[in-house]
Amino acid sequence: MINIEKFACGKINFIRKSSGLPLIGHNAFGVIDRGTNLLQVRATTICNLNCIFCSTDAGRFSRTRVNEFIVELEYLLDYVYKVVKFKQINDIEVHLDSLGETMTYPWITELIGRLRENENIKTISMQSNGTLLNGKKIKELEMVGLDRINLSILALDAKLAKILAGIANYDIEKVKDVAKRIAESKIDLLIAPVLVPGYNEGEIPKIIEFGIEIGAGKKFLPFGIQNFMRYKLGRKPKGCRTIRMYDFRKRMEEYEKKYNIKLILSPKDFGIHKAKMLPIPFKKNEKLNVRIASDGRIMGEMIGVARERSISIMRCNANVGDIVKIKILKTKHNLIVAERVK
Ligand code: SF4
Repeated sequence: MINIEKFACGKINFIRKSSGLPLIGHNAFGVIDRGTNLLQVRATTICNLNCIFCSTDAGRFSRTRVNEFIVELEYLLDYVYKVVKFKQINDIEVHLDSLGETMTYPWITELIGRLRENENIKTISMQSNGTLLNGKKIKELEMVGLDRINLSILALDAKLAKILAGIANYDIEKVKDVAKRIAESKIDLLIAPVLVPGYNEGEIPKIIEFGIEIGAGKKFLPFGIQNFMRYKLGRKPKGCRTIRMYDFRKRMEEYEKKYNIKLILSPKDFGIHKAKMLPIPFKKNEKLNVRIASDGRIMGEMIGVARERSISIMRCNANVGDIVKIKILKTKHNLIVAERVK
């Protein structure tokens, strides 16, 4: 098992059933249901890289994080099964993603194996930066029934890849080897680089050529290229501009023609369709009292609990166990954000 402590920034909090933290409501852990047949399942927030463009400011050198979270296996499975049952459909995709790196979850193989036992889960996919994978691990994940890995490849140039990953020992040759092994296994490979303007624009065609050469996308599509976006708490590389979505799409269209592949993707390409969504038990601007159940992930945040949801409370200076008054700011997709009020 990998030593997760060495990657964590701040304290690692294990979320057990006894913690009283519901696994719906917070974007760092648990289950996210956005009203489709795709469920995002987040088991860990820890990341072993420190990418200079990271939208979640993950990794050891994070400027905003003070706590990391890992969810106990049985507790997480309880929640996933509960939500799967609620949705009453039999073509659910469970997508294991994270505000960190999915492979830092100590029970990832067991998690996938147990999800596979549920007959209403059709597809199990996960995101990974590839650095904690190897031939043995890929074999294990294949055996337990993982369908697809969305692998981020930053650049094929070794020096540039290290700069983008934010750590000196990032080894692109290892990640390339992992990509080849996934492509040779029963697990499908989707290569998902982030286009970071001013840094890896010239690398994108090389990454596409590499993916075609090794046979990415056996069942699903081979690439999911993303445009770098600025986020409030995310990192912005020095000198990096953002490209308008219109211009990004134009560029993707050029590559589509050049390589005869599909790069502009829609949820339909992955069989994603609308499905009933868990009820949202709060209204925007509503004020209520909640119990503080945990410290938050970032500075100034605490996590409260009410109506079977975890609530991210900003600008909250309080102690675990306190009852505080809050105002609900956001409720979209059951990701509940609030602020403390008098
Ligand atoms: S971009 Fe992904 S791999 Fe890189 S630091 Fe952020 S969470 Fe980790």
